[in-house]
Amino acid sequence: MKKNQLAVQARHLSVRFGTFTAVDDISFAVRPGEIFGFLGANGAGKTTTIRVLCGLLIPSAGQAWVAGLDCQTQAADVKTKVGYMSQRFTLYSDLTVAENLAFTAALRKLDTRTLQRRTRELFDFIHFDYPQNSMVSDLPGGIKQQLALAAALLHDPPIIFLDEPTAGVAPAVRARFWSLIRQLARAGKTIFVTTHYLDEAENCRRIALMRDGQIIALDSPRRLKASAFPEPVLEIEPQPGTSREWLRKLKLDPRVARIQPHGRRYHVLVLNGPAWQGIARRLPKTLSLRRIQPSLEDVFIRLVEAEVSA
Ligand code: ATP
Repeated sequence: MKKNQLAVQARHLSVRFGTFTAVDDISFAVRPGEIFGFLGANGAGKTTTIRVLCGLLIPSAGQAWVAGLDCQTQAADVKTKVGYMSQRFTLYSDLTVAENLAFTAALRKLDTRTLQRRTRELFDFIHFDYPQNSMVSDLPGGIKQQLALAAALLHDPPIIFLDEPTAGVAPAVRARFWSLIRQLARAGKTIFVTTHYLDEAENCRRIALMRDGQIIALDSPRRLKASAFPEPVLEIEPQPGTSREWLRKLKLDPRVARIQPHGRRYHVLVLNGPAWQGIARRLPKTLSLRRIQPSLEDVFIRLVEAEVSA
């Protein structure tokens, strides 16, 4: 990739399936080495966008470039620059680890020496120490996930698309996977990732929020929070067994914009800055209360879901 070249660029990209518009005139750019998050509800158009960027789907309108290559007219070259871990598990369960990697290498036209070298490097990277003749179906879920990542990295692409790579895996496994993602970014790889786990999205340098095929916000997690919540957010944690009278009163308080349950806690959005101390004073002393930074989940609820229900 040339110096200063954008890793990914989309300009007025649209994808229509018949009369349905899955991606609706989106434009954005991703810089090399960035971890770029794509968030949105199911069906928002994330996977469809990724398929265009990987040269797998021709857009109905607009243009996209990856590593400076046109995704439509230079799709074959684009495929050499991207690694793609799709939403469904991409390895063959009924083949061994070695057979899966050999198969991926053949698709990528890698010679045997490159396959062996990359296999060693990637096994080292993911700390894979199972025998290579293990059947993929016999590996634990988290290991399979990491192996699928290794397969997507086999041809050493500079840009990696990860479509819900941690869907359905345990939190400890997710944390390990994200540590690999951060290492890749530190090594200069560009990561384009979708996730439904908003805590994971905190790892992204920038996030695009997608709704109904459109990008409705795009910024760093910190700036998304600040612009979605210029007013204070309080977190209240009632002791188990506490009467809920305070909650009823709070819901009626005109200074309160919204109360959002988060497990046992509540996030309370206050309409203006100074009001929060007044609200705090009127709450029972048995409640634990503190002013917090909003989470990305709060941002998502406000920007993506609230507008849907409005
Ligand atoms: P998810 O989080 O569920 O993966 P997504 O944001 O990735 O959602 P897409 O898979 O891009 O969403 O789908 C966007 C919309 O386009 C959905 O309504 C989907 O049903 C529709 N869609 C996707 N592919 C096709 C297709 N080949 N033909 C018709 N409709 C499609």
